[in-house]
This record gives sequence, C-alpha cells and structure tokens, in this order.
Amino acid sequence: MAEVIDLKRRQGKQGRIEKARARRRAQAVASVLSCGVCPRRCAHCGLPIEHYAPPPAEAPYPFCEVCQEEYEAFCRREQGGGAHEAYWHTDEWSECWRTWLAHMQAGQAFRGSAAFLRLMEENLD
Ligand SMILES: [Zn+2]
Repeated sequence: MAEVIDLKRRQGKQGRIEKARARRRAQAVASVLSCGVCPRRCAHCGLPIEHYAPPPAEAPYPFCEVCQEEYEAFCRREQGGGAHEAYWHTDEWSECWRTWLAHMQAGQAFRGSAAFLRLMEENLD
C-alpha cells in the first residue's frame, strides 16, 4: 500500500514538473510573439514612440519616425528598384526588411491560429 502511495506521489510530482515546463515554454512563445505588437513601441527597433499617432495606412506596424522613413525607403526601392537613397540601402538591407516583414506576418498568422490559442488557454492564466 505504501508503495502505491509513493508511486502516485512520484507521478504527481512528475506531472507538476511537466506542467511547469509546458507553462514556461508557452510563456516563451507568447513573449516572442508579443514583440512588435505594442502600439507605443516601434515594431522594428523597439524604442518607445514619443508622440503616438495611428500609423499611416501604408505602414503595417507602428514605427518610430526613423523606422517609418526607412520602411518607406524600402517600399520605394522594392517598387522601383531605383537609386539607393543611402549607402546602407543595399540588397542585404532590403533582405533584412523583407525577412523582418515576413517574420511579423508569420507571427501574426500563428497568433491567430487555433494551436496558439489552445497553447495560451492551457498554459497561461
Ligand atoms: Zn524604430
């Protein structure tokens, strides 16, 4: 009888450990996906936006003034492929913007998925 009680206690302890681990993983997933969605921080560089105004229709995320200018330069370059407006506006710079935007869109899609909602419901209060 004592062995049965001990086994149940071990199983209970193991279950709590696994639940705590799942909760930490869920918190990490939620934390990563919450980056860039705060309306008072620049989605790109993370700096606080001092004078919040709704982002322009052509801006998919709230940007600080500098990142908004860079984003617009990126869009102009993507549309026309014209002259570089700054020496750092290289193919690599464009690829950074392209992949960052794809990353943000992927995060947005995952946040809206049933799997993400289930993960949050099961592991976060
Ligand atoms: Zn910024």
